[in-house]
Amino acid sequence: MPRPLATPLRTKAPWRVLAGFGGAGHAACRFAAPETVEELAATLEAAKAEGLTVGFRGSGRSYGDAALNREGLVIDATRINRMLRWEPETGVFEAEGGMTIEGLWRRTIEDGYWPAVVPGTMHPTLAGCVSMNIHGKNNFRVGSFGEHVLELDLLTPNGELLTLSRQQRPELFHAVIGGMGLLGAITRLKLQLKRVHSGRLSVGSITTRNLEELFDAFEANLHEDYAVAWVDCMPGGSSLGRAQIHTARYLEPGEDPEAQVSLHVERQGLPGHILGVPKSSLWRIMRLFTNNLGVRLTNFAKYHSSWLSHDKRYLQSHVGFAFLLDYVPNWRLAYGPGGLIQYQVFVPYDTARECLRDVLTMCQQAGQPSYLGVLKRHRPDDFTLSYALDGWSLAMDFRVTPKRQRALWELTERLTERVLAAGGKFYFAKDSVLSPANVEHAYGRERLERFAALKQELDPERLLTTDLWRRAVAPVATPSAPLVAPSPEAAAVSL
Ligand SMILES: Cc1cc2nc3c(=O)[nH]c(=O)nc-3n(C[C@H](O)[C@H](O)[C@H](O)COP(=O)(O)OP(=O)(O)OC[C@H]3O[C@@H](n4cnc5c(N)ncnc54)[C@H](O)[C@@H]3O)c2cc1C
Repeated sequence: MPRPLATPLRTKAPWRVLAGFGGAGHAACRFAAPETVEELAATLEAAKAEGLTVGFRGSGRSYGDAALNREGLVIDATRINRMLRWEPETGVFEAEGGMTIEGLWRRTIEDGYWPAVVPGTMHPTLAGCVSMNIHGKNNFRVGSFGEHVLELDLLTPNGELLTLSRQQRPELFHAVIGGMGLLGAITRLKLQLKRVHSGRLSVGSITTRNLEELFDAFEANLHEDYAVAWVDCMPGGSSLGRAQIHTARYLEPGEDPEAQVSLHVERQGLPGHILGVPKSSLWRIMRLFTNNLGVRLTNFAKYHSSWLSHDKRYLQSHVGFAFLLDYVPNWRLAYGPGGLIQYQVFVPYDTARECLRDVLTMCQQAGQPSYLGVLKRHRPDDFTLSYALDGWSLAMDFRVTPKRQRALWELTERLTERVLAAGGKFYFAKDSVLSPANVEHAYGRERLERFAALKQELDPERLLTTDLWRRAVAPVATPSAPLVAPSPEAAAVSL
């Protein structure tokens, strides 16, 4: 039984204006950051008693509104972040949900273990990675993050602490993974890590002239452990979809003569300077180029210089290869005050080539080419709200400005229609634009209803919600859900 909070949340929890990582959407939320599971349970209980809705937040690395709860309470769970158990003999790692990917690899790499799946940044929390069921550059080989979770603890809105696994309440386990934090708080996880025999990977680079070459070369390299492509979304015609693919494979035991040294944490650092410029200032320079002409020039230079490393291999640290986007702190500020949205489409293998050709062309015709394009190969998984499929994904970053916003949303609507017609799906961690009808089409009513039934069982009072859930999922999953009435205090907070 949690000790009740001394002061009511309506008095104690301050208002904060929170944003998604892309910075294109904001919400005024009440904010609490408990430090223990007991405090978290007490906060949930108090929120229920005071009629406040609750949304959970990790490191806030989801691009859109997944970790926002306008006018309700946001519980930041990042302080509940202790390591609980580490078994270097088996690679089984146990921690509280607020520990970050960075916190994890720093504790295990010197014992020769690396997380089996990581996103493109090391800052997300483990609970955030489970809630979105994130994927890495090796999704085609090892599946999503959830496939490496052995067990987790879920604190339900009723204050029950459930232990879930593939054996204990498997249906709920499969719904919590990828369940967007809407079934309860993930307070503890047990993960199976990957044994590595060096702190470095053997990395290969391949440059391709257009989309067809890109797909062919990517497929020819699926024997590698990782593969990812940077796509230049600017040129059309015979250069449409030109790209640079990076592949990587783990080193075998004995292959790296400096294996022990390379596994040291200090050998995994990212460089402090890039081309002589301190990393912390780079975004200011990038900002000058974050427009159609600047990106066209930058991509031109990047594409042509990539031929210098074409078909070559080199060694790179795990951190250097995995967390490319962490090289430049605050890079998102280069997009200016309106921020960016990321929009990631997943398209089945058979329809992907044609569909992604159309997607790139439609962006160019609308005068809104993506400033960053990233192509990955995926395999399906069996989680309830899975976005994964046997096919490809293209993640695209679009700058948001007051002038471009309306046209950008109209463009994404047309892109969504095209992707749905190809049998595609979308990823909630990157979403800012989907409508309930799009979600129903992509996920199917049966899955949404299955998820909603579990939510009704665990959260009958509908305590847990987020802006993403209200915008895109609840209207189809639970059509009778009452709309949350804005409180007068919230209305007074000006954005
Ligand atoms: C630069 C960058 C690169 C990225 N690269 C990738 C990538 O390669 N692949 C990929 O899949 N994703 C990628 N992402 C997305 C990111 O990995 C996910 O959005 C991830 O969920 C972020 O974790 P977080 O801790 O920041 O959680 P948040 O974004 O704060 O929250 C995510 C979800 O988790 C829920 N949640 C958080 N904590 C808890 C808890 N304790 N209990 C229950 N629910 C909780 C929230 O309610 C929310 O629904 C990237 C993001 C960035 C910014």
